[in-house]
Amino acid sequence: MQTSRIPGFYKQTVKKRRELLKDVEAFTEETFDIISSKEPLPLDTADKMIENVIGTFPLPLGAGLNFLINGKEYVVPMVIEEPSVVASASHIAKIVRQAGGFTTEATERVMIGQIQVVGCADFQEAKATLLEAQAALIEQANASYPSIVKRGGGAKEIDVRILNEAAGSSYQQMLILHLYINTCDAMGANIINTMVESLAPTVEELTGGKVYLRILSNLADRCLARATCTIPSHLLETGDFSGEEVRDGVIHAYEFAASDAYRAVTHNKGIMNGIDPIVIATGNDWRAVEAGAHAYAARDGQYTSMTTWSVDAEGNLVGELELPMSVGIVGGSINVHPMAKAALSLLNVASAQELAQVIVAVGLAQNLGALKALATDGIQKGHMALHSRSVAIAAGATGELIDIVSKKLVEINEIRVGKAKELVEEYTK
Ligand code: NDP
Repeated sequence: MQTSRIPGFYKQTVKKRRELLKDVEAFTEETFDIISSKEPLPLDTADKMIENVIGTFPLPLGAGLNFLINGKEYVVPMVIEEPSVVASASHIAKIVRQAGGFTTEATERVMIGQIQVVGCADFQEAKATLLEAQAALIEQANASYPSIVKRGGGAKEIDVRILNEAAGSSYQQMLILHLYINTCDAMGANIINTMVESLAPTVEELTGGKVYLRILSNLADRCLARATCTIPSHLLETGDFSGEEVRDGVIHAYEFAASDAYRAVTHNKGIMNGIDPIVIATGNDWRAVEAGAHAYAARDGQYTSMTTWSVDAEGNLVGELELPMSVGIVGGSINVHPMAKAALSLLNVASAQELAQVIVAVGLAQNLGALKALATDGIQKGHMALHSRSVAIAAGATGELIDIVSKKLVEINEIRVGKAKELVEEYTK
């Protein structure tokens, strides 16, 4: 039986942590070997992934622990350079698992391809013609990518909008065709782009206009994942703060983000602290997820909080996060980067929908971690203590000296590189 609850994991060495993960069902010998490899991304593989390769750029890979989502245990691979993120996610996951864990769901994986048509003599007529031709357009799109249809996906529906019809400039007037495509377990950018490009000549013929752009939209609002958690307030008690105080502090913090874009953007950055590390670890396109998430947070015309936090009739803290989640478990660099394959295998997800659900659950946990800290001791206490090791390294500490200097910095409450340099000099005299 797999568990993601491994007490004292953080106190172990890297080698011992890898050994401890061997008890996790999904951590196969192959995953162990890849993660332990001295060259996790071979240079000749990297050279085929992008252009002008001159090296690779490693980042830390951490294990987010304690995640219980829809009754299933997850060890979450997280690639991030920022201290305290993995610790905070694991801390909140430990609290939420005591309340039964996260509940998640996902919509069908429908992505959007866009075709821009300009110069139509009559935009309304062009729109009607395209809508009438829906069945034929879908058939043609699917014929350009038959393998996705065989997998149960493919183009399903179209929609047509006219933008700026009354505008003075013909540059502004355009007709936009949306092609809705089920991309199964792939993120689908290449599938979608192939389909919309294949339709362009027919769309020009039907509308009498000229097609310019043919590409997916990263505002994947038909490919959503949602996570919720309900936490009895007594589980939130922290130091001198009662559970109710923490709960109310979290809700006040949420209301601030809900009403103020300056706060919302930082609040949402904290959510992406949980989301990006998994998206990166699993070889997915984090720019696509970031762009979609922020656009979704502004879908009502006002940029606002991605999460909601409230209190229910029993006094529990209730959190929810819903986001577009255009991630895949196949395609792109996922099948190319050995670490992405290892991370996906450790995470043990069977579908892109399941991956999307884990990602939003971690985003929700990360948000609560930040709000809980902000509403109590402030973020610097925990964050700077963990950051002190990076400060010590930046000051030139190596080996055992890193821990000695970092502990001293915390003790004297002066976590800055200048002070760390003084200590390194003093200890190495
Ligand atoms: P791929 O082009 O690699 O396509 C995925 C392929 O995987 C499918 O075509 C399918 O091929 C195969 N496959 C195997 N099993 C499955 C399954 N269960 N479900 C679905 N497909 C399966 O990747 P994507 O189309 O997903 O494109 C993603 C990449 O595109 C990312 O790297 C992204 O960075 C990039 N990109 C992003 C853009 C954006 O976001 N704006 C723009 C352009 C590119 P077959 O059926 O033939 O076996």
